[in-house]
Amino acid sequence: MTLAEQAAALFQLQLTPEQTARFEIYARELAAWNEKMNLTAITEPSDVQVRHFLDSLSVAQAVPLLPGTRLIDVGTGAGFPGLPLLIACPGIQVTLMEATGKKLAFLDHLAAVLGLQGVTTLHARAEEAGHLPEHRAAYDVAVARAVARLPSLVEYLLPLVKVGGRCIAMKGDTAYQEAADAQRALKMLGGRVQRIDKVLLPGVAEAHYLIIVEKVTPTPAIYPRKPGTPTREPLA
Ligand code: SAM
Repeated sequence: MTLAEQAAALFQLQLTPEQTARFEIYARELAAWNEKMNLTAITEPSDVQVRHFLDSLSVAQAVPLLPGTRLIDVGTGAGFPGLPLLIACPGIQVTLMEATGKKLAFLDHLAAVLGLQGVTTLHARAEEAGHLPEHRAAYDVAVARAVARLPSLVEYLLPLVKVGGRCIAMKGDTAYQEAADAQRALKMLGGRVQRIDKVLLPGVAEAHYLIIVEKVTPTPAIYPRKPGTPTREPLA
């Protein structure tokens, strides 16, 4: 099945030929840059399609990504899940945050080659960006895949989101345990788990999960703590 067929069947996303072409360029550039720098361990084209592109697009099923929605992808690496979401949901505003500078070079190159509107790359750590007025409580949606366990991750994500907004943590089979472990952190930071969605991808045996956290009250100004502290001393 093509990516467009899979996106339609799984997530009711209708990709135009132009959007499909952008995913093809993305896959090509990812493979080429991966020769020079360590961007991904997933290199088989069919795996890139499923484990990077479709997995990223699963987020579009969990929250409405209407034009004008402000989304930040924390620890985006080679752009996952933020860039596939921007390609598939035109009109959203995406900030790709990444702590490692050389990955930013790839993201800037890709945004230019794809001719994408509405994308900003941000070389920062979440613990610092969460205190900057232009990022604090500025987003409708904050998303992250493979960045930190949930008790630490919510300290990265919740300060960035408006009250009423959502954080989405993309997880494997530890999702329920992580959600349980994060209860205290969530209470301290102003969030609550709204639900956990299961995602099954074609040809992938293990289920993936989206932990959807709603921001219910403002995050106290002392959070996030200094770089490194949320992972070293989680609030749990
Ligand atoms: N999200 C991408 C994916 O799923 O393919 C990349 C995952 S990679 C395992 C984790 C990324 O998060 C790395 O690129 C790392 O530099 C970044 N990262 C880790 N902690 C971070 C922080 N506190 N602030 C910003 N980026 C962070």
